[in-house]
Amino acid sequence: MSDPRQHIMPVYRPPEQVFEKGEGVYLFTEDGTRYLDFIAGIAVNALGHSHPAMVDALREQAGKLWHTSNMFRVRGAEELADKICRDTFADRVFFTNSGTEAIECAIKSARKYQWANGHEDRIDIITFTGAFHGRSIGAINAGGNPKYLEGFGPALPGFVHLEWGDMAALEDAIARPTAAAVLIEPVQGEGGVRALPEEDLKRFRELCDEHGVLLIYDEVQCGMGRTGKLFAHEWAEGATPDILCSAKGIGGGFPFGACLTTEACGEHMQPGSHGSTYGGNPLAMAVGNVVWDIISDEAFLAEVRRVSGTVAQSLKSIADSHPDKVEGVTGKGLLTGLKMKGDPKGLQGVCRDKNLLVGVAGNNVLRLAPPLVITDENVREATRVMDEAIGDWDPA
Ligand SMILES: *Cc1c(COP(=O)(O)O)cnc(C)c1O
Repeated sequence: MSDPRQHIMPVYRPPEQVFEKGEGVYLFTEDGTRYLDFIAGIAVNALGHSHPAMVDALREQAGKLWHTSNMFRVRGAEELADKICRDTFADRVFFTNSGTEAIECAIKSARKYQWANGHEDRIDIITFTGAFHGRSIGAINAGGNPKYLEGFGPALPGFVHLEWGDMAALEDAIARPTAAAVLIEPVQGEGGVRALPEEDLKRFRELCDEHGVLLIYDEVQCGMGRTGKLFAHEWAEGATPDILCSAKGIGGGFPFGACLTTEACGEHMQPGSHGSTYGGNPLAMAVGNVVWDIISDEAFLAEVRRVSGTVAQSLKSIADSHPDKVEGVTGKGLLTGLKMKGDPKGLQGVCRDKNLLVGVAGNNVLRLAPPLVITDENVREATRVMDEAIGDWDPA
């Protein structure tokens, strides 16, 4: 028999399981086996699988209108942009189909802003080691990970890479006359689930203001309630960005993203500056409005913070009982994980064999990004499995 995967471009290495159905925090394979999902499509299924309000909204919209393109007004997009600007720092929103595209829009908006204000030499986007901003040519140059750049031609000009957390290097780079913007994840996802200290975020804001440089947050993974605030930067009072990229959780599984800007940064993006055929289409917006209404509710966020505390305690107890294999707990809220002493890829497999789905990230981190709607009971189940799995796991 031929391999059913033979015509898929082999850029992924998925395990054997094929999931057929999802319900809340559980996934089911074709033969009905149940898995507890503590990775949620990499922080995407924020409200779990098959959330009834999302299913209803998508069904209803699917029966009415799928697509007109942005040559016509989209009511759902106008409504969602209003809500986003009501609840955040933003004045303008550009809807995309993915996180990468939100990053592209952010970089273009930042450069356009500098150019329109008479600073055409200001093109440098300053980023940090361990960053992940997506897979387009622009985004891999922003991210600067040599592994992702290899074979794809010369590095593009206009990107400066600094050591994560090196404030002295930042002070130097930001003072150069070519600096356009700083681009950072308040909590790094792929790079190892690392939260930037709140004090550093505040300092970023001060330095940007001092030097006429824009501050861009990539909250594609850490935003949309994942840390217990609507956006992760809100933990650092006053450290609001000029531009913010969202995606993943914002669609809860329907592919879309958004680039949020202040008036000053958004006003130079005029007809001809940017666009997208599908961005903000009626199907995406029908789902997006429902997701936003649920996650932006303060009571919902308070519950995320509460259950995050349970997760943190449980991870701490796992770390304490396996000091030989676990280095510590990392991350923030429900973007969290265990830093292991060794490559956690095998451990991820041991967890999967015990019907628990988790992820991995850089720096030997076993990554958790469960649906935001998990209960204490779900946390207990996941904790028990991870504890057992770590016991069984051979790091060598
Ligand atoms: C996933 C991710 C992206 C890219 O988003 P896509 O939807 O895969 O294009 C960008 N930045 C961060 C922080 C991410 O986690």
